[in-house]
Amino acid sequence: MIVAYAYTLTTARESSTTVLPILCLLLMREKRRPSVVTTLDTSWRKEPAILDGQVQSRERKYRREIVSFGRMLHQRGYVAATDGNLSVRLDEQRILATPTAMSKGALRPADMVIVDPAGRQVAGRRHVSSEISMHLLIYKLRPDVPGIVQVHPCTATGFAAAGMALNQPLVCEVVIGLGSIPLAKYGTPGTSELCESLEPLIPQYDAILMSNHGVVTYADTLHHAYVKMETVEHFARIALVTHCLGRQQPLGQQDLEKLLLERSKYEGHRSAMPLAATSRFPAGNLAGRQKVRPEPARQESKTES
Ligand SMILES: [Zn+2]
Repeated sequence: MIVAYAYTLTTARESSTTVLPILCLLLMREKRRPSVVTTLDTSWRKEPAILDGQVQSRERKYRREIVSFGRMLHQRGYVAATDGNLSVRLDEQRILATPTAMSKGALRPADMVIVDPAGRQVAGRRHVSSEISMHLLIYKLRPDVPGIVQVHPCTATGFAAAGMALNQPLVCEVVIGLGSIPLAKYGTPGTSELCESLEPLIPQYDAILMSNHGVVTYADTLHHAYVKMETVEHFARIALVTHCLGRQQPLGQQDLEKLLLERSKYEGHRSAMPLAATSRFPAGNLAGRQKVRPEPARQESKTES
């Protein structure tokens, strides 16, 4: 612009005493004004640095969380030896997971591995678990889920090994937290067999018993996935006591419907599976196999609508 203006002035045959001061003024103004390019360059330099910092601090947090929940699962006896695996979805392309062949009670943040959605390891010194395929399937089918826990707690796995789902509405808190806990048919761990048996159940449930294997839970945080695992094992113990006592008194339909209404108020207890009626809990599963006869559903209050 300055050159064009100088050319115009020169061709207009203005005297040098007029042209030169104007040119100097224009050049000084041009120097003071920050160029658009400089402004853009600065923002581009800063933004990725801030994002990198946020990503790294999130990843560090999740590494520590996996260590912490791994230790809690080990202390509660939900895993033995090097059993079990936990994972967190960091973003659409990266899943942070426990490595193979390590006790969940002795993990360190640096032990974790990172895989892409196809299961290819992209970071970590250790090797990825063969059970990662189950985690990848859950992340694929449940975009709402960033945290998964897969372990073998004794009582719930006992039900899974006996071929029994935990699908009787016996305890109100469990109905609110998880609803029914189905049983997936057996599939060899680390193979497509297991994924095929889990696939139809994953969209509808937040906790699944795997026949002759263990339990998997998943939720909107790793913490809530861990909480659901505690609930499954606790409920399995209660169900076992009802078998020892030889009686079961499932909740009635009206009580279940009221629990469904309460469900949305409980943080971290939003199951994918709405369970409003006893019909959603298949009858006879426990009774048939264990010779325990469920009692009739509780009497509904006559004042209830
Ligand atoms: Zn397993």
